[in-house]
Amino acid sequence: EPQLSGDFATLMGWADKVRRLRVRANAETPLDADTARKFGAEGIGLCRTEHMFFDPDRIGAVRQMIMSETERGRREALAKLLPFQRKDFSELFRIMAGLPVTIRLLDPPLHEFLPHGEAEIAEVAAALGTDPEAMHRRAEELSEANPMLGHRGCRLGISYPEIYEMQARAIFEAAVAIGKETGKAPVPEIMIPLVATRRELEITKAQVDKVAQEVFAESGYHVEYYVGTMIELPRAALTADKIAEVGDFFSFGTNDLTQTTFGLSRDDAGKFLPLYVEKGIMPKDPFVSIDPEGVGALVKIATEKGRSVKPDLKLGICGEHGGDPASIMFCEEAGLDYVSCSPYRVPVARLAAAQAALSGGADRTA
Ligand code: PEP
Ligand code: MG
Repeated sequence: EPQLSGDFATLMGWADKVRRLRVRANAETPLDADTARKFGAEGIGLCRTEHMFFDPDRIGAVRQMIMSETERGRREALAKLLPFQRKDFSELFRIMAGLPVTIRLLDPPLHEFLPHGEAEIAEVAAALGTDPEAMHRRAEELSEANPMLGHRGCRLGISYPEIYEMQARAIFEAAVAIGKETGKAPVPEIMIPLVATRRELEITKAQVDKVAQEVFAESGYHVEYYVGTMIELPRAALTADKIAEVGDFFSFGTNDLTQTTFGLSRDDAGKFLPLYVEKGIMPKDPFVSIDPEGVGALVKIATEKGRSVKPDLKLGICGEHGGDPASIMFCEEAGLDYVSCSPYRVPVARLAAAQAALSGGADRTA
């Protein structure tokens, strides 16, 4: 059972008095959320909803949704997933008890959602009332040479709007139910992944707004909410002023931003990065610590451009770097509002944020 107590809790209390940066956690299960709170997280900065879809009770419906060739087929599958998602979000809202919760709409590794092998193909064919041959063709059609640079994030939400609509409905229905029950509704922060252009955010935000109005009309209850975006592609950083006209907040996805800035696969980098670091070609692993000349420069550009349009634009970071002390120092200097990291790194992040505040954001320890 994680718990902070004794001298460690006292030290954390001192850190909290001096730090400016807020510390949130990346969490998608009740256990993660509970752990995050026990370690002092001040909200959820990233709930990755794709992880929820791998649950054995739902993966069948997920495959059915992805493999259906018709909107009707997708909607049938999504109707099965809606109650699960409503419960997912309701649990997170309740555990976080009024603290901010940022829910990222589906950003799937599409290849992992596709059926593999004859048994899975046969199962999805039966569910969709079609033949295995058609399912083989469909799987081929959907398979990609470079899934990480392919049909993921908002691109999928734009191709199949009903997916984001289901998720938005689950979020709003959960928030409305809690509001009606307790008199205090959570304020969801809905985040769109892998945005590269203003128009992508405009389209997906309109989907979310439409569902919000539907749920509020059906329930006779209204909740506040925000719609923001991940900044995780260089193009998004470079056009952050345009994107800020549409979005309520930004969260820097420094994992993908590192991958796309270096043109270096985050899944394969480990094979030669240690050699690069050893030879001094890179001072540190850029997937661990923000590279100030690359990703860091893009973060600063996006911050400046975003805040030139909305001076109070809320800015966070939710890549792995959010739990790295040197990167937290960078975030302080860049003027971000919060960092979000894995639950077990929250205490480290609270200390690092305090140290960053005390040194005025300049890394005097380096
Ligand atoms: C990121 O890209 O930095 C991010 C937080 O999203 P994910 O790791 O889920 O791609
Ligand atoms: Mg990402």
